Amino acid sequence: MSVLATVSSPLLTAPPNGAAVKPSLAGLSRERLRAAMLQAGVPDKQARMRVSQLWRWLYVSGVTSFDDMTDVSKDMRTQLSAQFTLDRPEIVSEQVSVDGTRKWLLRLPKRGHEMRAPEVETVYIPESDRGTLCISSQVGCTLNCSFCHTGTQRLVRNLEAAEIVGQILLARDRIGDWPGAPLPENAHLLPNTDRKITNIVLMGMGEPLYNFDNVKEAMAIASDGEGLSVSKRRITLSTSGVVPEIARWGGDTGTMLAISLHATRDALRDELVPINKQYPISELLAACRTYPGLSNAKRITFEYVMLKGVNDSPADAKALVRLLAGIPSKINLIPFNPWPGSQYECSDWETIERFAEIVNKAGYASPVRTPRGRDILAACGQLKSASEKVRASQRTAAPPLDA
Ligand code: SAH
Ligand code: SF4
Repeated sequence: MSVLATVSSPLLTAPPNGAAVKPSLAGLSRERLRAAMLQAGVPDKQARMRVSQLWRWLYVSGVTSFDDMTDVSKDMRTQLSAQFTLDRPEIVSEQVSVDGTRKWLLRLPKRGHEMRAPEVETVYIPESDRGTLCISSQVGCTLNCSFCHTGTQRLVRNLEAAEIVGQILLARDRIGDWPGAPLPENAHLLPNTDRKITNIVLMGMGEPLYNFDNVKEAMAIASDGEGLSVSKRRITLSTSGVVPEIARWGGDTGTMLAISLHATRDALRDELVPINKQYPISELLAACRTYPGLSNAKRITFEYVMLKGVNDSPADAKALVRLLAGIPSKINLIPFNPWPGSQYECSDWETIERFAEIVNKAGYASPVRTPRGRDILAACGQLKSASEKVRASQRTAAPPLDA
């Protein structure tokens, strides 16, 4: 694990000593870049041209210094660097798993009322033919799914769009995924594709549909064909089931959708995914049936975490198949990833295989998601910032004096 100290990208805050902090342009939309240019005194007539220059440098070349913007005049570069930075979120730590998975713990700027700077995690998972970046949308989560580590951390705040895009920029910096960038360590584990990040999944910390506008703005930047250019077909939003927002998300963005189903009966899903009490399975599946653009070529992924003795029987598998009949879907069986203090166990391998066989026989290619990066707690549902864990263990070790 290497610890890299960089200057954070202070979009909103002033440091405690009152000195002015320069805001970062990295991660901003065209509209926000334009507003920043005008604020910096760039004449209205020039702003449009400056925005397209910046857009290419930021999202095609990935530069981290204004000096590298060779088609911007020296005076303008000086003017910009006097007022802005190109900083990404601050990296607190970077961990590289033996399988090439990388996890970054990031520190975001503190807001006025926050006691400490919030932290989130981003995970990169390389495979031979693709590289998937799993990004966070919130610090913590308001929902409390009983098997999820993030659910034990209270919501601190929504991420800004630039902080969501910042995770992509930073990951591309660290894995050398910009034109001409040098290869990183463990480069042999990177995919054989031209671009090393081919897919984005909103499956990190938080419920993305509870941060709708910022996630939407960020995905518009990520999928912009003149910039980061990640195809919408390769962006997947995973939701625990915020039913009223599902159709709006599909209509507004056109990305792929994944649903954290995990149970086929309301009584059990109420326990595992408590938002089910508000939006039960029948309503969730009705929203899936009408997801904009749904077709055999654009299926919904149903995620199903395998919990020993809880939801993993052959009867559960059959019920799952019945439930999804008629919905163009893929089923993703996820071995449960334990975390310190979790109350569940992962199903036995034979149980998972038996479950998968029933699902396969019903016509679903149901890859069992191989846990990745377990050695660095980077697998699904294990995300929760390390400092939070340290604080929790400190609380256990040293109760407050008035306890
Ligand atoms: N909040 C969104 C997205 C983040 S969670 C959602 O719930 O869908 C991403 C996926 O990881 C979800 O399917 C979630 O149910 C799953 N997950 C959470 N904790 C897990 C764990 N301990 N083991 C395996 N999968 C887990
Ligand atoms: Fe939140 Fe998703 Fe974890 Fe549930 S599974 S607590 S919705 S992050």
